[in-house]
Amino acid sequence: MDGEATQQNGEDTAATLKAFADSLADCTKCGLSASRTQVVFGVGNPSAELLFVGEGPGFHEDRQGEPFVGAAGKLLNELLAGIGLSRADVYIANVVKCRPPENRDPAPDEIAACSPHLMQQIAIIRPRVICTLGRFATKLLAETELSITAIHGKAKERTLAGVPTVLFPVFHPAAALYTPANRQVLVEDFARLRRLLERGLEALTRPVDPAECPPPTPPPGPQQAPHEGAGQAEPQAKRLEPTRTEQLHLW
Ligand code: URA
Repeated sequence: MDGEATQQNGEDTAATLKAFADSLADCTKCGLSASRTQVVFGVGNPSAELLFVGEGPGFHEDRQGEPFVGAAGKLLNELLAGIGLSRADVYIANVVKCRPPENRDPAPDEIAACSPHLMQQIAIIRPRVICTLGRFATKLLAETELSITAIHGKAKERTLAGVPTVLFPVFHPAAALYTPANRQVLVEDFARLRRLLERGLEALTRPVDPAECPPPTPPPGPQQAPHEGAGQAEPQAKRLEPTRTEQLHLW
């Protein structure tokens, strides 16, 4: 695609996402609508390669209408800066788009009512990588009962809303506010996330497929005499061995 077409595509995506956000402004699909100040749809680059998904808006997000603007958001900004990104480079959304009262966990019926909205955001943005922040986003998008402690910092290929993505769960930034040791875990997982963005699927550990490893070229036999005029034997083709650099783990 040339530059102009890419720009046109980006503008279309932004307009589609804006129209979708506008259509949700009066949503009453679950009980959270009764106590919210406003729907917190999401923020960032509508064509982002990287989508972050948190749990749900808190007090500040409900007031300001933007995800991750409180203390956890400040840490998210720092983690992003640590890998050379800003909020404008990525898209940030939540599992539920309205604040659960007293910041309680979102209830299963609220998640069920709101998750089609997240799926629609994924279908519009078409992110290459989705970084789930904490257990609610991870459980919903990975459809796993594995704990975030077991799978954080590991990747899984998954098609969501028809979009082939790589899921990459990390601890919720709020977990580092209460347990400072989790901050270092997040810093290390964000370094892995950067590697995933830079190298794509190449960054993932895969079982080696012998078919990808061609057999050695046999040395020229008597029937393959060097052609006339050849002064020296041609160098023999080298067998290609798969390289094993430090890879990200799949779960
Ligand atoms: N925590 C979340 O999960 N989402 C927000 O938007 C803010 C805090």
